[in-house]
Amino acid sequence: MSRILVIEDNKTLANLIAKKISSELSMEVDTAYRLSEAKLFLSRYEYFIVLTDLNLPDSPNGEVVDFLLEKKQKVIILTSNIDKAFRKEMMQKNIIDYIKKSGAQDIKYLITQLKRLQANQKHTVLVVDDSMTMRTQFKNLLENLFFNVITVAHGEEALGMLQSGKKISLVVTDYNMPVIDGLELTKEIRKEYEKNDLPIVAISSSEDEEVIALFLKNGANDYIKKPFSKEEFYCRIDNTIEAYENIQTILNSANRDFLTGLYNRRYFFNHIQDYIKMAEEHYEKVYIAMIDIDNFKSINDTYGHDDGDKAIVALSEILRSDTKQKDLVARFGGEEFCIALLAPNDDIALKVFERIRHDVENFSFKANNGDEVSFTISIGVAPYREGDDIADVINQADMNLYEAKHSGKNKVIFAES
Ligand code: GH3
Ligand code: MG
Ligand code: MG
Repeated sequence: MSRILVIEDNKTLANLIAKKISSELSMEVDTAYRLSEAKLFLSRYEYFIVLTDLNLPDSPNGEVVDFLLEKKQKVIILTSNIDKAFRKEMMQKNIIDYIKKSGAQDIKYLITQLKRLQANQKHTVLVVDDSMTMRTQFKNLLENLFFNVITVAHGEEALGMLQSGKKISLVVTDYNMPVIDGLELTKEIRKEYEKNDLPIVAISSSEDEEVIALFLKNGANDYIKKPFSKEEFYCRIDNTIEAYENIQTILNSANRDFLTGLYNRRYFFNHIQDYIKMAEEHYEKVYIAMIDIDNFKSINDTYGHDDGDKAIVALSEILRSDTKQKDLVARFGGEEFCIALLAPNDDIALKVFERIRHDVENFSFKANNGDEVSFTISIGVAPYREGDDIADVINQADMNLYEAKHSGKNKVIFAES
């Protein structure tokens, strides 16, 4: 669990903040009332973030901030003074943010920020800039916000990185670059990824007003004009990544099954043609498998619905780990699953399904009553051939599944129509 250190000599406030953080963020919180105490904590623990007051009994002039930065801590300042000169001075230091301490609203903002920083750890940002100095600067700024950062020096390299299959959540691109400039790069990215799937923030010092409009019209989610303040940069990146997360959450709830996180039937039928196209492009074949747990009713009846759900979740995990990213795994409903598997030939496809059957057979989980429960599955497979109606292939797979059930279960049956 990550840990937070709060350094604040107003004990009531320090305790209030600590209580809020531990209740809302499930983080361990330590509180120090002076710099000397903070030093002891720092020698003992690693901290995700240090929140600090500026003026402490043994740090009357903000010495604590420089001390923390020297120790490579990530710092958020708690302050009652937020005039312009102060903000400027503080933001010039390598702090993440400053937070006023005048009321409940400020603590709410603090909690939101901490959640944001925690969530940023899941995201990778691709920075595209031909200037090494700028690349380093962006990398530092973004890493300070806990993002994973990949930097590349030009547009082609960026496109290559996106094609490599690495999951990127955000592209930050410069405008002026040799060969492919930021605008061309934005247009190229938008041929493959929609605004909601991969946000782009463009950055440029171009005096040409038209550039901003062109970026936004061609699919950039936001634009930052150089020179920019660190505060503006952070706010715009925050807003963009937050919008991206919100949209992904909505898409996930429409396309995914709540219990297992697998794609649902609706997503399967909406996207199966894309998978078929992708298979054709890679000279692979598509195999449709219908999968159903054997005697599932008896698991529910013997152990209860909760343990039945455990079996469904466990099966979904095996299906996920025994297939590849390029395969489409969906829960159609109940204990029935469907896979569109991409494979070069029948033998390899069959091996995959046989392995899934085998892995399920060898798996067991602990029921609520302490019993070790195992179960089996039956699988019906049918190959998709160019020009087939996908509904017919699924139907064939279903008939093969029926055959598997009626000839003893715990088996894979593969046959063409
Ligand atoms: P067979 O080997 O022939 O497939 O037998 P079965 O017992 O698995 O047959 P059947 O398909 O009739 O039973 C499925 C049961 O799954 C019926 C239903 O109550 C239960 N079920 C459906 N959805 C869920 C779910 O989300 N969670 C749990 N725990 N049970 C579910
Ligand atoms: Mg069943
Ligand atoms: Mg069933």
